[in-house]
Amino acid sequence: MLKKSLRFWILTLLCLTMFGLLSSTLLVSYFVTKENAINHTMEINRVYSEKLAQITDQSFESMKESLSLRAIDMVPLLSDEEGLTKALYQYLRSSNYFNSIAVINEEAKVLTSAPALDVIGFHVHSVGITEALEKKETLISDLYDGVVGQKILLISSPLQDHEGNYYGLLAGVIYLQDHNIIETVLGEHFSQDGSYVYVVDQHGSIIYHADRNRIGEVVSDNPVVKKLMNGESGAMKVTNTKEIDMLAGFTHIPSSNWGIVSQTPYEVIMEPVLGTIKKMMFYSIPFVLLTFLLARMFANRIAYPLQQLAMQTYKLKENKSTVNETKIPTWYFEAEQLNQTFKDYIQNQESQLQSATKEALTDPLTGLANRRALIKTLQALQEQMHFSIILIDIDHFKTVNDTLGHKTGDETLVFFAEAMQRITREKDVCGRFGGEEFMIILPEAGTQDAIDVAKRLKGFLQDTISPAGRVITFSAGIGFYCDSYEEEIDQFLNRVDAALYKAKDQGRNQYKTA
Ligand code: GH3
Ligand code: MG
Ligand code: MG
Repeated sequence: MLKKSLRFWILTLLCLTMFGLLSSTLLVSYFVTKENAINHTMEINRVYSEKLAQITDQSFESMKESLSLRAIDMVPLLSDEEGLTKALYQYLRSSNYFNSIAVINEEAKVLTSAPALDVIGFHVHSVGITEALEKKETLISDLYDGVVGQKILLISSPLQDHEGNYYGLLAGVIYLQDHNIIETVLGEHFSQDGSYVYVVDQHGSIIYHADRNRIGEVVSDNPVVKKLMNGESGAMKVTNTKEIDMLAGFTHIPSSNWGIVSQTPYEVIMEPVLGTIKKMMFYSIPFVLLTFLLARMFANRIAYPLQQLAMQTYKLKENKSTVNETKIPTWYFEAEQLNQTFKDYIQNQESQLQSATKEALTDPLTGLANRRALIKTLQALQEQMHFSIILIDIDHFKTVNDTLGHKTGDETLVFFAEAMQRITREKDVCGRFGGEEFMIILPEAGTQDAIDVAKRLKGFLQDTISPAGRVITFSAGIGFYCDSYEEEIDQFLNRVDAALYKAKDQGRNQYKTA
């Protein structure tokens, strides 16, 4: 199976790295942003609940103060029912604190009220009234159900004259499920993002809620309410009674033991958090693309030299190329080393091959072409052109060896080789055919040209003293070859050899043509 390229693996690594980096960045950002948003929202709710607690506390303190002052004013009017009713109406309109105001005598009978209630003239033994008549002081009642089931909060102040005679009480009634002072103070609606405020009393009953239907409900199991009932303030994540996760800030009001909770659905903050992450992703696209392109370019540049080297080794294996000629940009250490080693190796191989080839075709003693090279040359020439050869055998060479030694014999052979080269043309090939037999190949030469060369060689040898200390002679066979003869080289050589033999036979120191 063809393996994937280095470039592929670099790019794969790159993609994996970028994917890992990007996803971890986004993931970390997501968690940090979420954490921040949660803390921020809880803190806002905590501060807000604290603010509302202050306002609520102040409002109820003002109400109590106002009611007790009015109570003093009302005592002289107790015998004048009409005047009393008028004064109640006036107070109701001017203060805006209560849904209704009533005067109740010490036997719990409702004397008069503004606006006129159905219970005027009746004894009302509700929780709030009973407690107020017992305690004879300005107080805020617990939440209780009124005669017709409405949720009521009663703020009352005793009616007492200067001598301390007690006549009953002045009661400000707040109908918690109607529009009332708490709604005015805290705001009436759910906010757009689903945040809302609710107020619980010391028993965990809801006395204010954006959803009026929930007023009166006891939510003391709610962890936030539990903390409030313990007198704690703070912020926390909580699941509300409707199984919705909320981020709540809550403040306990010490004077009334009420608690105010401001809370925001957890889901609401997730939207901007996800929005932020989406934006991050969007804005990082160009950088990711740019980084990818740059890195890809880099990956290509890293892979290129190795790719080229791989190609060249492949070609070498397939015998398609020899020396590495293309310039490989090896700009880093490993590629440079590989390339250099590869080049050196190839050059080494080639020079070894060349010298081996040369060795195989050269006669080591004389440096001339050897028998194999001569035959190759003849075979090459055979198909191209006509040529002549001179096949030479030195006369009585054996005696040189025998009388002067093998070393002088060798020197004489070298001397003879030099003589041959001296009298031939550049394009002629001189070679040692074996022992003391030599050959001269004369391309594009006819028989006469060869005779001339043989004569020249003879002349040169006659004029020169050889290492053997005497003039040496040779016998030669001369042959002409033309491609139209369609003769095998072996046959041709046999012909020339026969001519040489003839020259020997007829007394040596002469040539014969084949
Ligand atoms: P002729 O050819 O005239 O008949 O006599 P010859 O003495 O040359 O006879 P032959 O061809 O029988 O002898 C060739 C001699 O050449 C035999 C061998 O000792 C010698 N010889 C062959 N090769 C070498 C060589 O490389 N070095 C030396 N020193 N002698 C060699
Ligand atoms: Mg011989
Ligand atoms: Mg000989």
